[in-house]
Order: sequence, then structure tokens, then C-alpha cells
Amino acid sequence: MRRFLLDHALLPGGWARNVGLAIEGGMIAAVEPDASAEGRERIAGIALPGLPNLHSHTFQRGMAGLAETRGPQGDSFWTWRQVMYRFLGSLTPDDVEAIAAFTMMEMLEGGFTALAEFHYLHHDAEGRPYGDIAELSGRIAAAAQDTGMGLTLLPVFYAQGGFGGAAPSEGQRRFINDVGSYARLVEGARKAAAKVDDAVVGIAPHSLRAVTPESLRDVVAMAGRGPIHIHIAEQVKEVEDCLAWSGQRPVAWLLDHASVDQRWCLIHATHLDAQEVKGIAASGAVAGLCPITEANLGDGIFEGVSYLSAGGHFGVGSDSNIEISAAGELKQFEYSQRLKHRARNVLAEREGQSTGRSLYEKALTGGAQALGRRIGAIAEGNRADLVVLDGDHPDLAAVSGDRWIDSYLFVAGKSAIDTVFVAGRAVVMSGRHVNREAIRARYARAMARILA
Ligand SMILES: [Zn+2]
Repeated sequence: MRRFLLDHALLPGGWARNVGLAIEGGMIAAVEPDASAEGRERIAGIALPGLPNLHSHTFQRGMAGLAETRGPQGDSFWTWRQVMYRFLGSLTPDDVEAIAAFTMMEMLEGGFTALAEFHYLHHDAEGRPYGDIAELSGRIAAAAQDTGMGLTLLPVFYAQGGFGGAAPSEGQRRFINDVGSYARLVEGARKAAAKVDDAVVGIAPHSLRAVTPESLRDVVAMAGRGPIHIHIAEQVKEVEDCLAWSGQRPVAWLLDHASVDQRWCLIHATHLDAQEVKGIAASGAVAGLCPITEANLGDGIFEGVSYLSAGGHFGVGSDSNIEISAAGELKQFEYSQRLKHRARNVLAEREGQSTGRSLYEKALTGGAQALGRRIGAIAEGNRADLVVLDGDHPDLAAVSGDRWIDSYLFVAGKSAIDTVFVAGRAVVMSGRHVNREAIRARYARAMARILA
């Protein structure tokens, strides 16, 4: 049993001082505000629950910055995807693990303490399964073990190249499974994840364009009570193709053809009509927003104001990992809505409410739901995942309470992060991962080879 004393902490009931925390087996055994310092290790600063990152493809961190040169005509998500397909063509299992570890390290330094990895790179460069079909899922699990990242592993089912059962392209051959091989992959991923403390394995049909209605039904049946994540309505062309195929928009089709409930996380859900906004909110599912990536890819702007008014749940993900920052994702979400509505503080619910605290708490709840783990609050029975801000940071030192979160999200960003605990263990100290040099060096070697 480890016993800490937090100077300041955001608890489910609000701000508290001198919070005693007892931790056993990585979980919070007791929380005691106004505790005495005796027999406790003091943690200076401002402790927040660590934010869950509900959507990422860690390998894409390696191509960050490689698709920012203007092409011959109309750059878009689809031209970016061509660069991505070329990049992943040469990745070896060692590369996948080195990039994943580096990315998870940056996530921990950036304020995320748990990750849902939407993992679709399964086979070798020729599209043949490795001897262990879950080889690359195992590499993701190994990177989580190496860095201390909390893990929800989502092996992705990808079977089709487009709506209506179109054949996959050559660029997609490392992703492809049928329902039978996918079942084996999930079994292998469960074995690999069992080596990571408290890890969860979920199900992830890639998108409506990558499945048929029949195969979607079959893979969803494998989820049990675990999480189900799907990319949906990210692109206008995807909405148009879905309309052409089915006569319905993607979210409307999904709500009609699958029993979408609180296990589900709808990634992006950018392009929604008013009925779809209400439909997702009423389903209890989480909208998985990736505001920095969606801005980078030019996807569009989520219907944030109407969705939150309808009581919809959301969390945030770093997706392409073009920039990794828990604070930055929430800031970009709010700023996208300010630009759209030409107003300020649009996502806070009522007069006098802090936009930062409101966004942070909602993303904690939605993120924890989407990851299917006991995280997202400093509370008994949860994992001891904490992000401790530096109380002496120039943007935080002269303020208190909710202003700390406003200043963290909108001003200081990850420069305010001092210590990060996962399962009660400090994995980031003074803003740097405890194993940074080795992880960075391995990443640099892999990237030098890949980009040679
Ligand atoms: Zn994605």
C-alpha cells in the first residue's frame, strides 16, 4: 500500500486540498480530503484525473509532417491516405513497436494516461498474416508495457475497399481479414493484452465502407460487454457514398441497423443532420472527437453545440498523432465551435461555468466509458491515473480552482505538466518520461531506416 498526500486535487465533488490517497495494486483504495501529512508522500501541485485518449493509430506518428506539401490538385483526406499507405508499406514489427512506444511516451508527457489503440495494421508487407496472426497487436501491447500506458486494444476488422463490398486495394492488404481470421486475431490480441496490467480488448469494425452488413453483425457479436469503436461520417464523400449505396447517411444507417448503445464509440461523427445528433445522444454512445487531426485533415466541424445540448457524451483522441496534447484537443474542440458560431465560451453549459473544467470533466467521463475501464476520476476503486500540474508554472501560480484548468487548456498546455502517474507509478517526472532517452533513441533509429 502506498500513501500519498496531494496538495490540490480535482475530485468528483470538486476541488479539495491535502487529499490523502491510498493505492493498492495500482488502484485507489481510499480518498481522504483534509488528511494529515503523517506517513504520506507529498505530491506538490494540482492533481487532475489523467485524460483517456479514445482514438489513435500510433504508427501514424512516424508520418507526421510528411503530408504537408501541396500536391497537383485538391489535397484532401484521400490524398493524405495515399501518403499513409506508402509510409506503412515498409514497416517491420520492430518499427511498429518502436513508433508505438515513442508515441505512447509522448501521450503520457502530453497528459493522456490511457489509450484506445484502433489497430488496423495486421499483416506483413505482402499482406500475408505473420506466424502469429496477432504479432503486431502484441507489439502494441509490448509498447504499452514498456511505457506504462493504460491500454484498451481495439483490433480492427477491415474487409472491404469501399461501400457495397468493393474489393480492397493493394494499399490496404496489410489490414484485411475475413470474419474467421478476425476471430483468431481477437483471440490473439486478448492473449497479448493479458500481459498488460488491467488492459481491455474491444472490437473495431473499421468503418461502414470497410464491412458488409453481414460481417458487421458477425464481428459486433464478438464484443460481449466490451467496447465497440467505428470510424463514421468523417468525410463528406463518405456520406455521399453511403447515401448512394444505402439511401441513408452513415450514422442514420448505423443507428437503424446495429443496436448502438453505451458500449459504442462513434469516431469523428463529423457530418450529422439534426436527427443523427439526437440519435447518437439518445443511444448513450460516445462521440469520439479528434479535433486536431480533423483540422489537419480538413474533415469538417463537429455539431458540438447541438450535440452537447442534447446531452450527448464525448471524449477526445489524438488519432493521427500529428500533435499530441490532451489540453490541445479540448482547446481545438472549443475553438472549432467558436469559429463556427462566431462566439466565445460556447461549450460551457451555463453562466459562470468554466469552459475548461466543463470540457475536461465531460471528456473524462466519455473517455472512460469508451475505453471500458475504471478510470477518469480520482475515486475509490479506480486506477490511480493522475496528471499533476506544476503549481509554480507562471500561468498557474497566481490563480486557483477552475482557473487552473482554463489556464492549462487554453494557455499553458502540456508545458504545465509536471508528474504523471499511471496505476500509482510515476512514469513522467518534471515533464519527461522516466525512460525517455532509450525510447527516443530506438524511435530515431527506426525512422532513419524507414525514411532512408
Ligand atoms: Zn482514426
